[in-house]
Amino acid sequence: MTEVAADPTTYQLFIAGRWVDGVGGATFESVNPADTRDVVGRFQAGTPADVAMAVRAADMASPAWKATPAPKRGEILYRFGALMAQHKERLARAMTREMGKVLAEARGDVQEGIDIAFLMAGEGRRMSGDTVPSELPDKWAMSIRQPLGIAGIVTPWNFPMAIPCWKMMPALVAGNTVVFKPSSDAPLCATLLVELMDEAGFPAGVVNLVTGAGGDVGNAIIDNPDIRVVSFTGSSETGRAIGERAGRRLKRLSLELGGKNAVVVLKDADLDLATDGILWSAFGTTGQRCTACSRVIVDRAVADDLVARLEARTRTLKLGSGLDETVDVGPLVNAPAAAKVERYVETGRHEGELVIGGARATGGDLAHGHFFAPTIFHGVAPMATIAQEEIFGPVLSVIPVDGYDEAMTAANQVKFGLSASVFTRDVNTAFRAMRDFETGIVYINAGTTGAETHLPFGGWKDTGNGHREAGHVALDTFTEWKAIYVDFSGKLQRAQIDNQ
Ligand code: NAD
Repeated sequence: MTEVAADPTTYQLFIAGRWVDGVGGATFESVNPADTRDVVGRFQAGTPADVAMAVRAADMASPAWKATPAPKRGEILYRFGALMAQHKERLARAMTREMGKVLAEARGDVQEGIDIAFLMAGEGRRMSGDTVPSELPDKWAMSIRQPLGIAGIVTPWNFPMAIPCWKMMPALVAGNTVVFKPSSDAPLCATLLVELMDEAGFPAGVVNLVTGAGGDVGNAIIDNPDIRVVSFTGSSETGRAIGERAGRRLKRLSLELGGKNAVVVLKDADLDLATDGILWSAFGTTGQRCTACSRVIVDRAVADDLVARLEARTRTLKLGSGLDETVDVGPLVNAPAAAKVERYVETGRHEGELVIGGARATGGDLAHGHFFAPTIFHGVAPMATIAQEEIFGPVLSVIPVDGYDEAMTAANQVKFGLSASVFTRDVNTAFRAMRDFETGIVYINAGTTGAETHLPFGGWKDTGNGHREAGHVALDTFTEWKAIYVDFSGKLQRAQIDNQ
């Protein structure tokens, strides 16, 4: 069992039930974004040859895994969920050290993994299809789900345990084997997960881990003809490139991409509650959640009041290493992320009034990390660059509007459609908003974050390509439907002909 050690350990790939070095021999480092002198570990820079071996292992394991009854597959998922629960604190601390989110949120990330493991373990005993009446006498009609074969799993760093579990649990319980490529900013989290999967009893070859760069390992997964489905979460830019590549191969592809999520605050809102919801959604995980609130669309009548409250509370937020339980906001994940946030903040200076923040935070203990002060711009226009593009950092744009209709137009006037929320005390307005938001997730009187694993998760428009994670519908990505007709009449009965 790996312990998170002070000295960097070199970790390996997991192929065919064995921990092995990559064939290329190269490694890369994962560093702590709160203090880049702290090397979390060295990892194999996988190559297409490693992917080919992982696919071969997954292919060989596939027949026996498919033949294992789904409730029995589910029992291994239960064991994995229980192991995650047993190791929750160790996993959470490793996550905070590797990608920076504060410990309370890292524990939540692990918990999401546990929740989906248990939910999907239960699906092992459901996995329901339809049994329906036939048009013809003495005929039976039904549909069943069957696995596709090998699933490619490509994940980001921002939910480094929850997202891999959201993908691998439904894939596995449905009878697929997997080749898993995690983000190079969170390979330790992936390694710790796969260690526990091995301990839980997934047979050799059912789960394979190949760390390495997107261009090498990721593309090899997309291109491999034996991988029938790829589930990807990441940026829209990468998603689009993968989509083109997978499209040429007619490969099933689930894409979960970027967001530009809005909180709408109407003039009858509870402003204290709205302030709580906005701060948690905007600056939690340092604004690096796909559901992060990066736009507040507020009725002009209460805009200045709300901004004053947001500013006062933002001033109290403590930046630092997420391992310190008193810290509210951790670092950005890496140097390019900090540079990107800085560029958008410079653009923002021309697009709104800077209320607070606006710069990197480098004093004292922050000197060796990628810290950026939580930033708020007021008076931003709905179509401004900072109100349209995903920044993925602690930057909030406040957009004043007049009334519900203008607020809803602004909320929907972006290319993304992941989550949205409205603060109002009027039940009729709340129901209108539930109907009108063009997003996959809607919150009433809460921020834009905080999905539960038994409901579908995913976005409209450029946030994805119509698939969903979590909930029982997650099985749709990883199964083929088979319609079955059983005729026990003993004679030829022709549908649409003999029953007219
Ligand atoms: P990213 O697109 O840079 O990387 C995601 C994964 O793709 C990584 O494993 C990366 O190595 C791999 N990759 C990169 N290039 C590739 C290629 N050419 N072929 C195959 N794989 C490749 O994203 P990121 O920075 O890790 O994550 C942040 C992004 O993820 C944000 O845009 C965020 O909104 C999005 N996200 C979306 C959701 C959602 O459910 N909609 C959830 C979390 C994060």
